[in-house]
Order: sequence, then structure tokens, then C-alpha cells
Amino acid sequence: MKKVSFLDLRIRDDSERQALLNAVDRVFQHGRIVLGPEVTAFEEAVARMCDRRHCAGVNSGTDAVYLALRALKVGPGDEVITTALSWIATANAIALTGATPVFADIRDDLNINPDAVQSLVGPKTKCLLPVHYTGKVCDMTALGEVAGRHKLIVLEDASQAFSARHRGKVAGSFGHAAAFSLNPMKVLAACGEAGVVVTDDEEIAKRMEFLRYNGCVNRETCLEPSVNGRLDTLQAAILLERLKGLPVLVGKRRKNAAQYRERLSQVVVCPLDANGDYDVYYTFTIQADRRDALKAFLEQRGVETKIQHPLLMPQQPAYAKTARGDYPNALRLVQRVLCLPIHEKLEPDDIDYVCDTVVEFFGK
Ligand SMILES: *Cc1c(COP(=O)(O)O)cnc(C)c1O
Repeated sequence: MKKVSFLDLRIRDDSERQALLNAVDRVFQHGRIVLGPEVTAFEEAVARMCDRRHCAGVNSGTDAVYLALRALKVGPGDEVITTALSWIATANAIALTGATPVFADIRDDLNINPDAVQSLVGPKTKCLLPVHYTGKVCDMTALGEVAGRHKLIVLEDASQAFSARHRGKVAGSFGHAAAFSLNPMKVLAACGEAGVVVTDDEEIAKRMEFLRYNGCVNRETCLEPSVNGRLDTLQAAILLERLKGLPVLVGKRRKNAAQYRERLSQVVVCPLDANGDYDVYYTFTIQADRRDALKAFLEQRGVETKIQHPLLMPQQPAYAKTARGDYPNALRLVQRVLCLPIHEKLEPDDIDYVCDTVVEFFGK
């Protein structure tokens, strides 16, 4: 029986491994371990790629969202409207600032619904936190209109969408600021925890500088209580190296997605790139009847899949008692979503095998 892994974090290509080892070795040799030159070089490269003036490297995606909210002065008494369907880090980052997350419904493409956002705006709403879910940029045109109408701050959680595009504009270039996770599962992945915040706003950039360093300026004076959230130099060195291979890697994921679509569109609901968009397929999330049985069937035949996520954020025990919002479509879709393996190390044979197995399950 064939095995198709959901993720494969081994680095099996010899030249890639050697390049990463060399990058790490350069850090060992220069010894500037904390905020070393690779951090600055990586920040500059990311700012350029995201069409932004400033970038701050931080130690995780969770801290990227959390610290960006703090930099935007979101705090107790404020409401932040976000999607019901995301990794829990999104809601946690809001809650940790002392603000209240308000959960909006999603469209069938699994991204936040701008009309649902509009209906949740109230006097305490300060910020809009859309998540570019599965590697697809949200409808930022419509969301921008809602935000403009109500003078809301927009922070993109672009963790799943590094280098994705919406109408020619790159993820991370839409809001007042954007946060990315670069953890080992993401499309641009460190070999450990990492994240970045990008912005054009000088003041937000300045605030990020001290918020990621216990709230301290000039190494001594603490302006606001905060965490230690700096990006590691070793991870920056690895990420700089990985940036070079990113276009090829994303191309591979998009090719895998196209192969799935061609074989499976008649059988299950497959994700589509909207007109003029360039999705990066952090996940290839299908929507299927009898989802749990399909997952078990694939598992038995060696195909590893994931449900991202079995619970909506407002359904989590941490939020269930107090969660606010309205998300009927998310409640429906969370029963139907299934992520098929899409990573760049998969070969056309692997994708074919997954397709055969899905088709076999539905008996078509
Ligand atoms: C991965 C992820 C995060 C959290 O990132 P970490 O680096 O794991 O802390 C936040 N938001 C979204 C949408 C994510 O996918």
C-alpha cells in the first residue's frame, strides 16, 4: 500500500540541506546570535516582498498577531471582529490584549464574509482581523470598504498566505499592518518558531521594536509591559535561504492543487482561485459529504488527512461560554471540511493515488 503523508518536514534534497547548514554555520562563526545581521536582511527581504516599508521579525505567528494588535493600540474595552474559522492562535492573540473577539461568518470559500462583518460592527469595534485562510487572500476590497465606512483598523492574519495575491496585490499589503506565522508547517517555514509583522506606518514599526523586547527602548527603559518576542537569528538565516526556493515551492503546491481539481471537482467541492487571484495552498481543503467516513477510508489506505479545524474558535472550551458573533455557514462547513495532502514533496503519482481513493469512496 502506498503511504501519502500530510506533511514531510525532512530535508532530503542534499543541496538544500547543505545550503541550510552553511547558513547556520555562518551564524555560528560571526556569533551575533541575538538580532544578528540575518534578522535585518530577512526583515528587509520580507518588507520588499510584501510591498511594505517596515518589517519586524518576531518569535512566532501568535506573537506576531498579538504584538501587532498591541502596536495598533488595541486593548481592554475594544472589540475585534475576526472569522469563526481559524487556528485558535488568532482568537487567543485578541483575547491576550484584553480586547474581545467577535466572530463573523464565512463564505463558501472559507474566508470571512464582509457582509457578516458589517452586521457585527458596533460602537466598541476598533479593529478588523481577517485571516487569509488556507492560503487564499480574503475579499479585501469589500472588507476595506466596511473598514473605511466605520474607521476600523485592519490587521491581516496572513499566516497561511505568504506570497499569495488578490487582484494583483500581495498578502500583507492590504491592512494597516499584517502578521505572518513562519512556523514549520507554513508555506514559508522556519525550522522552529518564527513570525513577522509588516506595515507602512512608522509609528507601528517603532512600537513593534520595543513591544518585541519586553517593552524596552535603548535596552533599559521599559515603556509598556510586554513579552520577549524577538526573531531568532538562526531561524532568520534559515528563512533567508528558504525564501530563494519559495516561488518553486508554491508553484509545486499550485500544480498539485490543479491536479486534484481536475480529478475531484465532480466528486467533492474543491477550492478555486478566484478570478485574478493567486492562492498558495497552505492547505487543499475540500468540502465533502460523509467527511468523517471519507477521512477514515483514506486513513485505512495510507492517506493522511487533517480536519482544520474540528471546532470553530468560538466553540472551543476557552471561548464557548462567552463567545459573541453569528456564524451559521461556518457551523455547517466545519462538518464538511477535510484537508488533503498538498505539500511540495508530493509527486503526481501520490496525488493520483489520493484521487483514486476519494473516487473509490464515493463509488463513482
Ligand atoms: C499558524 C497560525 C497562527 C499562529 O502561528 P504560530 O507561529 O504557530 O504561533 C496564527 N494564525 C493563523 C491563521 C495560523 O495559521
